[in-house]
Amino acid sequence: MATDPVCKKEVDEKSAPGGKVQFWGARFYFCSVDCRNTFRHEPEKYAPGKGPNYSKLPDDWRA
Ligand SMILES: [Zn+2]
Repeated sequence: MATDPVCKKEVDEKSAPGGKVQFWGARFYFCSVDCRNTFRHEPEKYAPGKGPNYSKLPDDWRA
């Protein structure tokens, strides 16, 4: 099991309802699309130290 970094729920990696996001070498799984979108808006808040600041993220992260 993986932990959703946004709401801290346990998520099964094989069937994560919110899918997964690869963030500078680390993989995150989400319980819902809402959580994934929240993470994409502020990844450094939920995965501190995992990558560059939000302003340096690729455009497709800002959807
Ligand atoms: Zn969640």
